[in-house]
Amino acid sequence: MAAGELVCPACAQPHPADERFCRLCDMPLVIDGGSELEEPVSERHARARKVDPRYTEGSLVRVAGAMNQAEAEFVQGMLLEEGIPSTLRRTRGFDVPDMLAAGPRDVMVPASGHDAARDVLLEADIVRDEPVAQTPAARVLGVLLAVLAIGALVIWLGTELG
Ligand SMILES: [Zn+2]
Repeated sequence: MAAGELVCPACAQPHPADERFCRLCDMPLVIDGGSELEEPVSERHARARKVDPRYTEGSLVRVAGAMNQAEAEFVQGMLLEEGIPSTLRRTRGFDVPDMLAAGPRDVMVPASGHDAARDVLLEADIVRDEPVAQTPAARVLGVLLAVLAIGALVIWLGTELG
């Protein structure tokens, strides 16, 4: 394996140095162990070297929710400081076009890093556990659906009785 080549901490699939995430499992890539003694050659390599191998096992699990991309990246930075790699996913149920930085994100970490990540985020008062259904957008949608249902009922009653 060439020096500086990146490898996936979860599946060990090697990747070229210009890749950031594993093509198979979306994990942030880390530098192959063989180049341990070299100085980081880029900011990305410096990030990759912070990852603690203990926190890279298992499948991805959700550890926290973020309100948007910027907040999610802030959470990722905090986790990385503790050696925990993470990746972001759009929270399901929110259809925001991909090019927009808006919309909530799920912060995903390897299963072995979940407890450590949770501790970091609890300490920083960042973990929010409210289910998606309680977010304002979902509440508004619920009210709209209720109004539509009542409207349909009224129309149906009108045609039945008329
Ligand atoms: Zn992988």
